[in-house]
Amino acid sequence: MRALILHGPGDLRLEEVDDPVPGPDEAVVAVTVALTCATDAKMMAAGAHPALGPLPAPLGHEMCGVVEAVGEGVRGLRAGDAVVVANSAPCGSCADCRAGRPNLCPHLVYLTGAFAERVRVPAAIVARNVHPLPPGLAPELAAAAEPLACAVHTAASCGPGSGREVLVLGGGVQGALLAGLLSGRGDRVHLADPRPARRDRARRFGVDVVHDAPRDDDAALALRAALPGGRGADLVVEAVGRPQAWRAAVLLARPGGEVVLHGGVPAGGVVDLPAHALHYSEVTVRGSYHHTPDAVARALDLLSRDVLPVAGLLNEPVTLAQVAEVLTVSRGEKHPVRP
Ligand SMILES: [Zn+2]
Ligand SMILES: [Zn+2]
Repeated sequence: MRALILHGPGDLRLEEVDDPVPGPDEAVVAVTVALTCATDAKMMAAGAHPALGPLPAPLGHEMCGVVEAVGEGVRGLRAGDAVVVANSAPCGSCADCRAGRPNLCPHLVYLTGAFAERVRVPAAIVARNVHPLPPGLAPELAAAAEPLACAVHTAASCGPGSGREVLVLGGGVQGALLAGLLSGRGDRVHLADPRPARRDRARRFGVDVVHDAPRDDDAALALRAALPGGRGADLVVEAVGRPQAWRAAVLLARPGGEVVLHGGVPAGGVVDLPAHALHYSEVTVRGSYHHTPDAVARALDLLSRDVLPVAGLLNEPVTLAQVAEVLTVSRGEKHPVRP
């Protein structure tokens, strides 16, 4: 079969590889649709990522498909089933899993390899994070369950709306999804992005007010002063994944406010934070990472009910041979791939 294999930073090759065979408790899924993602672009550029195995490694992690074969011991899944395969699964039994934080499970098993005709799904994912394709849901949208699940996980951690001023930094795919989930809950949602097209798109996700992205501290402080109340947002959700945006997020929070860091910065990244704001304004800063099997299920439910205009995040389809170029040029933009 054909598969995209990452050999090193920037070195993604379309190769002919052996067809996968399921081991005990595993399954092989024929990929119907995979989506490109900013994480794929990061993986390709860096040649390394916490969710990527040692190189050479197959790429692609947002997918839906049809079960082709199951290994010995698999129950509840059979050849011909249309499924959404999440890109990780927790162990389900460690202290973090039992504490309801399975995304922090030290035994989290990751899966890449969606940019291929078939993918071998590890036993942990077969057991805990393969979901039936909801009837009537287009495969292109079902494959978006993974990125939406990340936003669902973060939005859930922000609690219910309570008349807050919420600012989302970044109008990429994650920023749009987060804004969509956070709006309509009784909060007012602002979104900042330097690109007008992304600000327009954010409005379709229910954003109340859009702003240009602050490029430096002065611009961040000006935006802070321009927000209702003039003292910053009650909640700032950062969805950019760059150190400057993390810094701006702290500057943009009101005294006593909260900052949620949703966008991942590269390994070894260092962030220079405004210490004065953290201490004297008692700003709370916390990270939010990845998703859980429950979040994937909730994302699929949202997709099947057409709650958010997710189709508006998908660009034109590309072939496997075009993925490397797409990940280099448009990076975070989503393109469906039908391998
Ligand atoms: Zn992704
Ligand atoms: Zn665990």
